[in-house]
Amino acid sequence: MRRQLIAGNWKMHGSHQANAELLAGILAARPFACDLAVCVPYPYLSETAVALAGSDLRWGAQDCSAHEQGAYTGEVAVAMLAEFGCRYAIVGHSERRLYHAESDQLVADKAKAALAHGITPIVCVGETLAQRDAGQTDAVVKRQLSAVIHALGHCAGEMVVAYEPVWAIGTGKVATPQQAQAVHAVLRAQLRAAAANADSMKILYGGSMKPDNAATLLAQPDIDGGLIGGASLKAADFVAICRAAS
Ligand code: PEP
Repeated sequence: MRRQLIAGNWKMHGSHQANAELLAGILAARPFACDLAVCVPYPYLSETAVALAGSDLRWGAQDCSAHEQGAYTGEVAVAMLAEFGCRYAIVGHSERRLYHAESDQLVADKAKAALAHGITPIVCVGETLAQRDAGQTDAVVKRQLSAVIHALGHCAGEMVVAYEPVWAIGTGKVATPQQAQAVHAVLRAQLRAAAANADSMKILYGGSMKPDNAATLLAQPDIDGGLIGGASLKAADFVAICRAAS
């Protein structure tokens, strides 16, 4: 049985006060049966590390550079994230693929850079509505994951994968548990061909997961947790999702 992971993606939200209240609300609700993490905007990593020090709540970033260091204005190196105690870095979120034209290869390079510094990449894959309607879902997610598997080689088993159908992110449209499970099974089969520990790897679902739909999604055999956007910004909602996890 895989221990589930619920990871919040705060996106570009937060303030000193809002973050303090949110983290305090989550900490006060412990213990949980699942692993927990919050992926926060870069400027808040420091205060998040202080607020969560000594707790079992992990923290991470929402992106990272594929480069070690150098003249890359505006980018943040994985070594810097490691100095803040980051445990996770989301890579390949659809908002970055879309608004920043991130390619499969760049996402794979970022995942590799993260692992090289001991940070677990949460690798997002997912199809657009047009791709789903055209029957391309499996081919798209397999292509996206394949680039990362190839880059990570024998370390592929160390990543976390997140299936995030683009049409379900921030839209209130959630994949049915059956739709999500079907894609997770495809991803699991792909991982089995690449990593000896594929059956213990975590594949998260992300896309409008909320307190009222979390339990049925998380009950699917290949769904090992959630990557939560909007609902991770309210302690009560995030806590309710964590309680639905095992
Ligand atoms: C996300 O941004 O990763 C996400 C899943 O967002 P939401 O939960 O708001 O759909």
